[in-house]
Amino acid sequence: MRFENVLVVDPIDGEFVGSVETEENVISEIKRVKGTQEFERILMPGFVDPHTHGSVGVDTLSMSQKDLEKWENFLYSQGVTYFLPTTMSSTPSAILSAARVVRDYIKNNSLTSVGGIHYEGPYLSLKRKGAQNPELIRSIDLKEIEETLIESVKLITMAPELEGFSHAQELIQKRGITLSLGHTDATYEDMERAYNQGCDRITHFPNGMNTLHHRKLGCVGAVLSLPFSVEMIMDGIHSLPGFVKLIFGIKGAEKIMIVTDTIDATAMPDGEYELGGQKVILKNGRPTLEDGTIAAAVLVFSGAVRNFREFTDCTLKELAMVSSLNALNSMGIKDRGRISKGYRADLVLLDETLEVQETILNGKTVFKS
Ligand code: FE
Repeated sequence: MRFENVLVVDPIDGEFVGSVETEENVISEIKRVKGTQEFERILMPGFVDPHTHGSVGVDTLSMSQKDLEKWENFLYSQGVTYFLPTTMSSTPSAILSAARVVRDYIKNNSLTSVGGIHYEGPYLSLKRKGAQNPELIRSIDLKEIEETLIESVKLITMAPELEGFSHAQELIQKRGITLSLGHTDATYEDMERAYNQGCDRITHFPNGMNTLHHRKLGCVGAVLSLPFSVEMIMDGIHSLPGFVKLIFGIKGAEKIMIVTDTIDATAMPDGEYELGGQKVILKNGRPTLEDGTIAAAVLVFSGAVRNFREFTDCTLKELAMVSSLNALNSMGIKDRGRISKGYRADLVLLDETLEVQETILNGKTVFKS
């Protein structure tokens, strides 16, 4: 595969006009064009969404392998080459059954963007539940955790103030699974302890956590003063554009990961949907629970990428960090997320307005507009 006269955007080497060649599944050659700066299309590392509950009518907790295929194909049209279907707080058997669907899907498909499963809950703060079902949020149970940790589990969101958290953290990290802090009412000290024990990642900051006070730093204060990486839902609703810009100024592009946090109603008409056993009403593109609580999101990934660029006025190099490399790094994945020789050819070709033209997964075209 060869891409001529493209604007190559690498999160480390930056932006330059040139050509990129892939051989089998890796990037084999990159040539910079000297002089002329004209280019036709933009080539970026494939997008990564580590936090999405569903799309196109498919929901992580109830999907079949066929449903997951439909969801994956939709995400190809968004330039996504790696994603983690994400659960809500649920029963151990429901969570485990979703993890098995993901495991079997990966086993049955040699070419897939499904990287594993993200458990968002059920060990969360009731006070900071957001749209999580309060009846299914519970205290930490190490035996239950052990039973639900099968090989497809890549990421777990947990509240660090819960009793038994330190032991749970040790158990999860020992298994090579990434831990993320979220839906939490923790103190600064709880957050700091988790950080010092090796967790440096925050789930959909600052949604589902206590806020900053100058005499009580809390979760937000800890996240801003310690080198945590933060997921941010980039719909302009969960965090206003001005807040995204503020966090970009404080933490920099190296510490932000765009997520969608989408639900099954994404790319679907207005109506009634379900999220973790609760009714969700989608009206004018805005999903809420019956009491008006914002219920996850319905934005598409390429829209989230364009939003980030618009909210922060960042460079394309920075955009490649927040849309791909940072999320991969946070899960210890090192073979992709860059346009550099030897890296896996997971790529997205965009026009100048950042609309997806083509998606390449492991050296093969999986979407073309
Ligand atoms: Fe959440």
